Amino acid sequence: MTIDRRSFLVISAAVAAGAAFPAAASVRRRNRVAESILPWDALREDGKRGVWASAGDVPGGNVAIVTDGAGEALIIDAKFASLGGAIREDAKSLASAASITFVNTHHHGDHTGGNPAIVEVAAKRYAHEKLSGRVTAQLDSLRQQASAAAAQAGRMDAALNHDALLELAGRMTDRAETLDAAAFLPTVQIGDEPRNIHVGAIEASLEHFGPGHTDNDLTVHIPSMNVLHTGDLVFSGLHPFFDPDGGSTVFGWMESLQQVRKLCDDETVVIPGHGKVGDRSIIDAQLQYHERLLAAVQAEMKKGTPKDELTAMKFDFFEGLGFEQIAGRAIGAVYDELEKNGNG
Ligand SMILES: [Zn+2]
Repeated sequence: MTIDRRSFLVISAAVAAGAAFPAAASVRRRNRVAESILPWDALREDGKRGVWASAGDVPGGNVAIVTDGAGEALIIDAKFASLGGAIREDAKSLASAASITFVNTHHHGDHTGGNPAIVEVAAKRYAHEKLSGRVTAQLDSLRQQASAAAAQAGRMDAALNHDALLELAGRMTDRAETLDAAAFLPTVQIGDEPRNIHVGAIEASLEHFGPGHTDNDLTVHIPSMNVLHTGDLVFSGLHPFFDPDGGSTVFGWMESLQQVRKLCDDETVVIPGHGKVGDRSIIDAQLQYHERLLAAVQAEMKKGTPKDELTAMKFDFFEGLGFEQIAGRAIGAVYDELEKNGNG
């Protein structure tokens, strides 16, 4: 629970520092949906059928909404408690009176904090089977997040539709004390086998590739639209967040990325967990980061560099990456994993 609380705070601090959001404004103005509360980028659009993402310019993990053009919507992830209601209302307006299906990519509070606002309207909700225990264990921090929802919304960018955002966040704060684990949990748990789900006529494949960023990572692939949401297996242009107590493993993460990459071709739109939407090159960049980090930490351990010195180091491949506050944490996690495995 303390780690989850800390991870929430660390990511919040990084978000507050504005590290993740270069050049988002021009994109969102061009593609902004007229009636929406949050800014959404149209990634694929054909009338009411399409894929929209709120990526990089609003706090929390990147959210996607998929609509089938006939009143069905899939929401992928829920950001923070302050934003869950806005995501739900935007999905309804994007899909016109939507029936909502919901997927969590993993348990971290910047992806599940907004769950209660979506869970109450989504009949079908999917997550990996290891998410439930983790969400239940972090229930206190999720309730604290809900208590602070109205205050957090009040501090957000004035470019958002603020009145609606404040009202919805206020409703979350009002119910914070009554939230139980069920307000966050899926109806269907995914194991290690891929699972195809239907959102109207659209098929999406949910897949877990073993422990990576956490022990309950799920990717969401929509082949007919050639769009992939990687969850936090990819931090685009940012240092990745390591959470060893939540199941992070650098070796597993690299293995997952190699598998995820196989889902993509030249045209695939890749939505990362954090940072800007891209193509499969953002998966390659994440893999390269891990390979370099592993090699750099191994080299320093061979020289006998102590851990506290090592976690303060800045390697040349760090140049230009956001979320600098968590770089030392990434180094430390790799150090601990190598030491534990006797590979140092
Ligand atoms: Zn995460």
